[in-house]
Amino acid sequence: MSKKLYCPECTTEYWGPINYSSPIKPAVCNECEHVFSFAEINLQERTLEFIKQKEKSMTRYKDQCIEVEEKFGAYLTNDGMTNQQAIVAIAKEYGPSHAFACATLVEEWNANDNGEDNAMHNM
Ligand SMILES: [Zn+2]
Repeated sequence: MSKKLYCPECTTEYWGPINYSSPIKPAVCNECEHVFSFAEINLQERTLEFIKQKEKSMTRYKDQCIEVEEKFGAYLTNDGMTNQQAIVAIAKEYGPSHAFACATLVEEWNANDNGEDNAMHNM
């Protein structure tokens, strides 16, 4: 069974078999002949798994952001909510981190406010 590892000595990518039946030499770096320990292999496997999970949840969060932004805009323009009311509604539906993102958006609008009458500015 082949695995991708990174040599902790020379950071070269190791792609090759891991000999699980050899506790002394499960895998050796081709570049500097560093011998990977099982602890190193386990740690790297867990780190890669962690990164994969994190990327998955980031994608889900980003997809949700688009949905939240559309909904936030609809609350303001269609439902006639104030910014504050819309933020509270988003917090209830999607949680505080999305509400915080909306609040940041409102702050940006306010910063760019040039006095024009805009439905997005009905604070
Ligand atoms: Zn190496």
